[in-house]
Amino acid sequence: METRSSEPQPRIIIGTKENWEMVIGLEVHAQVVSDAKLFSSSSTIFGTSPNNNVDFVDAAMPGMLPVLNEYCVKQAIKTGLGLRAEINTYSVFDRKNYFYPDLPQGYQISQLYHPLVGEGEVFIELDPGVVRRIRIEHIHLEQDAGKSLHDIHPSFSYVDLNRTGIALMEIVSFPDLRSPEEAAAYILKLRQIMRYLGTCDGNMQNGNLRADVNVSVRPQGSDQLYTRCEIKNMNSTRFIQQAIDFEANRQVGIWEDGGEVQQETRLYDPGTGKTRSMRSKEEAHDYRYFPCPDLLPLEIDPAWIESIREDIPELPDELKKRLIRQYGVSNYDADVLVAEKEHAAFFEQVASSRNGKLAANWVINELFGSLNKAGLSINESPISPTQLGSILDLIESGEISGKIAKNLFEIIWAEGGDPLQVVDERQMRQVSDTGSIEVVVQEVLDENPAQVEKFKKNPKLAGFFVGQVMQKTSGRANPKLVNEMVYKLLSDT
Ligand code: MN
Repeated sequence: METRSSEPQPRIIIGTKENWEMVIGLEVHAQVVSDAKLFSSSSTIFGTSPNNNVDFVDAAMPGMLPVLNEYCVKQAIKTGLGLRAEINTYSVFDRKNYFYPDLPQGYQISQLYHPLVGEGEVFIELDPGVVRRIRIEHIHLEQDAGKSLHDIHPSFSYVDLNRTGIALMEIVSFPDLRSPEEAAAYILKLRQIMRYLGTCDGNMQNGNLRADVNVSVRPQGSDQLYTRCEIKNMNSTRFIQQAIDFEANRQVGIWEDGGEVQQETRLYDPGTGKTRSMRSKEEAHDYRYFPCPDLLPLEIDPAWIESIREDIPELPDELKKRLIRQYGVSNYDADVLVAEKEHAAFFEQVASSRNGKLAANWVINELFGSLNKAGLSINESPISPTQLGSILDLIESGEISGKIAKNLFEIIWAEGGDPLQVVDERQMRQVSDTGSIEVVVQEVLDENPAQVEKFKKNPKLAGFFVGQVMQKTSGRANPKLVNEMVYKLLSDT
């Protein structure tokens, strides 16, 4: 694959006075895949009844002490390694103090001054072959808060602490993004990598991946950073793009009117398509951060980091390059195939020692198309890689045509079975024996003397005879041979 790093293609907002560019940075909260919470043994399972998964620690009962879940640390290190980041062997948990009903401790245990993971990088590709590097500033571990429910009772609010204390990785980017599209591509790339790693399931609907988006604008070409606003807690890439668009244009309006953008936290309302002020932005000192006295600094053995590194699977960027190199698939097809690890694995089982392009074509168009239509995941596919491989073998050997292969695919999809056996039982094999094709072609010519006369004036009409022969043989005649035979016999008449 030919890739080149590219300069950003900033989304330009044309103002009345000058042109403006967007500057975007993201803080992504990714829920760690783990059976237990970050500092307690409560379950992290989603969708149980309210306050079912709550330990004394989660409820902040007096005297309860947090115990760090080693597995969550391992998952965060794995994520850091997958994002080509430095892992800090010394990190510290801090208390971030604020009052809110869904935070029983009165503080969130987070990491501010010494995060677990340092600088890393992610590559995004908006145009084929044009790769942009987005830098990650750091990743820290922290607890999630609970959930306030305001819509159950007319005059009371309820609190569900099931989510309280679940481990989050906060992935903070540098302000390297320059358009809503780049921001969306960046989140989806993070999601993809974490799904490959098994460290975050990326389920945005359940809120397992959500982002705070920092947006500012500046005159095109400037290298200054202007005042930014933070749009909180969004879990849809579509809304994120809409919010960035609205917010950037709002800020351009303020600057051009001679005003000044105020640093603040805003909320996006998908109903109106607008952002609105939520509160003026807190600084770190507003949260009175200090090291959590209940937890020792986290010191990590470099040998442990290396053993985790050995567990890192092949990630989408490398996998994509390999699929292109090894199977000759196109850049676009490779992107589709690596979207999910299981998709690529299925493809490789079909493609190994076969024509890679043909395999990609069938996996993407027929298989993914049918799965999509049926609302099935790849793991639920009624057709196995072995069965699809057999169908491709029949095409490659010329025993069935592409058209028959599609019928065969539908039969195997609906009824199962061995494609070779089905082809025999239903006599679907392509007729490539010239003798029997000649008989049918001659029949067709004899039945259509008027068309034969017309053909003599207009040789383009040969297609008519080919069509008739294909119909008579239920599409089984080898179309190439039929074509040759039609021309041969017609020129003899
Ligand atoms: Mn956070």
